[in-house]
Amino acid sequence: MRVLVVEDERHLAGGIKRGLEAEGFAVDIALDGRNGLERANEGDYDAIVLDIMLPGMNGYRVCSSLREAGNWTPIIMLTAKDGELDEAEALDTGADDFLSKPFSYIVLVARIRALLRRGGRERPPVLDVGDLRLDPAAHRAWRGDVEISLTPRQFSLLEYLMRKAGEVVSKAEILEHVWDYAFDGDPNIVEVYIRHLRKRIDEPFGRNAIQTVRLVGYRLEADGG
Ligand code: CA
Repeated sequence: MRVLVVEDERHLAGGIKRGLEAEGFAVDIALDGRNGLERANEGDYDAIVLDIMLPGMNGYRVCSSLREAGNWTPIIMLTAKDGELDEAEALDTGADDFLSKPFSYIVLVARIRALLRRGGRERPPVLDVGDLRLDPAAHRAWRGDVEISLTPRQFSLLEYLMRKAGEVVSKAEILEHVWDYAFDGDPNIVEVYIRHLRKRIDEPFGRNAIQTVRLVGYRLEADGG
């Protein structure tokens, strides 16, 4: 899942990025409001963390501009103080949630997970595709009754494929959602990770859930038997 963090305090932005990346999110940073709005409009983000006090264009305006343009990416706003007015205004401009500074990364991650669940379409807390099951909050995955151990990146890749189950996803989409926007390595890394993931979730079980759609990408099927 890819998150845009719009925050002008570099130190805090960097801390949020590291905190979210440790939880398997791909994170991009914008350091001012205008850049944040541009990135949010151009990129396909799953959630946005938006500070209110920003140079160029404040968070309220970024949020209302996005909503006016029909962009409904879930937004969590960072309020500087514990002011009720701040928080009410954040929600009124179309934000989905707010968090007052200082906050813990654990709470921020939990709030983002909650937003991803109730965002645009139904996002259940535990994902099931056939007998594959993944619990994003607990970082655990199972095939039937067997728990599967995955690296954070493999986990992220599986989560993305499961959220898009039955749909074809291209390598570019996978790169965009599982790796950083700034990733400039070899896109064939996706193939490598798909191969690793098959060794974890398919091959030991005699399955073929991750299907290669030639020249297009990959599709996760409920029954790869
Ligand atoms: Ca700020």
